[in-house]
Amino acid sequence: MNEGVVATAAEGRKRMGSGTNGDQAASAWREICARMREDVGEAAYQSWLKPMTLRELAEGQVRMSVPTRFMRDWVVAHYAERLLALWSEEVSGVRSIDIVVQPERFVRAQVAAPAAETAAPVAVVPPRVVRSADEPREEFGAPLDVRFTFENFVVGKPNEFAYAAARRVAEATAVTFNPLFLYSGVGLGKTHLMHAIAWHIRRRSPERTVVYLSAEKFMYLFIRALREHNTVDFKEMFRNADVLMVDDVQFLGAKNTTQEEFFHTFNALVDQGRQIVLSADKSPSDLEGMEERLISRLNCGLVADIHPTTFELRLGILESKAERLETPVPKKVLEFLAHKITSNVRELEGALNRVHAHARLVGRDITLETTQEVLHDLLRANDRRVTIEEIQKRVAEHFNIKTLEMTSPRRARSVARPRQVAMYLAKQLTSRSLPEIGRKFGGRDHTTVMHAVRKVEELRERDSGFAEDVDLLRRMLEG
Ligand code: ADP
Ligand code: MG
Repeated sequence: MNEGVVATAAEGRKRMGSGTNGDQAASAWREICARMREDVGEAAYQSWLKPMTLRELAEGQVRMSVPTRFMRDWVVAHYAERLLALWSEEVSGVRSIDIVVQPERFVRAQVAAPAAETAAPVAVVPPRVVRSADEPREEFGAPLDVRFTFENFVVGKPNEFAYAAARRVAEATAVTFNPLFLYSGVGLGKTHLMHAIAWHIRRRSPERTVVYLSAEKFMYLFIRALREHNTVDFKEMFRNADVLMVDDVQFLGAKNTTQEEFFHTFNALVDQGRQIVLSADKSPSDLEGMEERLISRLNCGLVADIHPTTFELRLGILESKAERLETPVPKKVLEFLAHKITSNVRELEGALNRVHAHARLVGRDITLETTQEVLHDLLRANDRRVTIEEIQKRVAEHFNIKTLEMTSPRRARSVARPRQVAMYLAKQLTSRSLPEIGRKFGGRDHTTVMHAVRKVEELRERDSGFAEDVDLLRRMLEG
């Protein structure tokens, strides 16, 4: 199993080296990652796109690498065309992309001496996979993040129960509760705790086999096994696991055959006294599309949820992260961040990193002023708590139409214009994506929202009375 660090887009940039071409490619890749993340959602992005490393851009061809063969297959099948389209939008002249398999350990070795690649490059445009018989045996778990250990996990009221349960599982010699089911909203530490369990067991009891993977990967492997009539091998892979951890099982929801297979794998392992750890964004009973018998089995173990963070926990996490940074961060700044960024730990970390990166770049100390400046956009987003419904209501009142018209199919100017203004404000004042906004406006398409935003911007420039109206509404809503 690959124990390397997930190769991030940021690392990819470093390895690309500098130089105009490298810089251009790196910034294009950054942009593409951001757009793919919007497109495919956080979970799919983390599982499949984030582990990709940009290698080279030369003569209209982009070369990227992924750590394992199955990742390549999946990326090729699902994202190759979209990636190519984005690349050619970002960098003119890009005609094809190459996705090669390059396990992380070889990537590291390459830093010292440019080693031979471990697998033949595979042309993916048009999407096509060439397999050679001597490729390394496939790894089926996902790499673990080296930062996600118990030592690096800050414990507070909201997560102490989940933490204690995770520690218990990691330290136990006999299975105590099975499964351990962790759930919480995004960015609150589920994946961190699962990796921590894996690291702990690997360190203490290297003879035990710990398998960690996302539910999406489980599904992918299973579907592929079905396609290749290879379900025996599939079962064999899991039968050897002493500890099986499946992250984000809410994604198993819709697919019935995978859920069935998961249920069998799960039962078989539990019956053999193997430990199972699962995570999801909801409690077992609230998971959509889960079968009753699976839910009741899940409820048989220990269900532990992580609550939203408190100010104390956020401050504790920031303090612990700040200690490891090179530039000192004043306590006032940490308090400010803990106060302002309340959504989740991932955003909190991101904010601290941005402030730190900025300070290093311009060679200045971190102060409250620079923090506010650097995080300008983020802080505004966190300040705004206005909902789309409120916007619709206020705008309808202002233009003297019924709130219902916001979601109606009517296209008369008298209702279409206010609707466009409301869409525009929804984009400006909330962190909702275009498709989400579209859905709230009677199931409209994201392109309709995009059009509305442009239209309002255009009108604002031409018509100062209109601009004043919109600004007034905006101030009212921001209140
Ligand atoms: P989830 O899987 O619940 O969406 P993650 O485990 O990916 O969330 O956590 C998001 C980020 O926040 C990670 O970088 C993780 O290390 C960090 N994090 C979350 N909770 C804590 C904590 N209590 N202490 C330290 N870091 C944390
Ligand atoms: Mg997670």
